[in-house]
Amino acid sequence: MYDALTGRYTFTCPAQGRSRVTLSAFRTFERLPGAAHPAVYHIRFACTCGDEHDGLVSHDELDWAPLGLQGGVFLNLMTDRLEPLADELREVAAARIKAGEWSWAIFW
Ligand SMILES: [Zn+2]
Repeated sequence: MYDALTGRYTFTCPAQGRSRVTLSAFRTFERLPGAAHPAVYHIRFACTCGDEHDGLVSHDELDWAPLGLQGGVFLNLMTDRLEPLADELREVAAARIKAGEWSWAIFW
């Protein structure tokens, strides 16, 4: 599960129960045969407990979720209203791409 606000993926950890890591903690990933819509990847990540574990992520979570364009809302403290998350994060995604942080789709 990817959290667009923190930029972290959540996986299970045998020692801590749950671990939240950034994309840079991924050590390997391999597309699994079979699933195509969405494709599923087996990843190995460096956990915050100090060990490495296996996890599964979908193509959508790897490629699209970091852009923050999915549905959802957040509480805008400036207006005290719930507002669409996509609108807020679209500008962040555009700024990251302009800074050279490309999504995974560029490398496929
Ligand atoms: Zn762990």
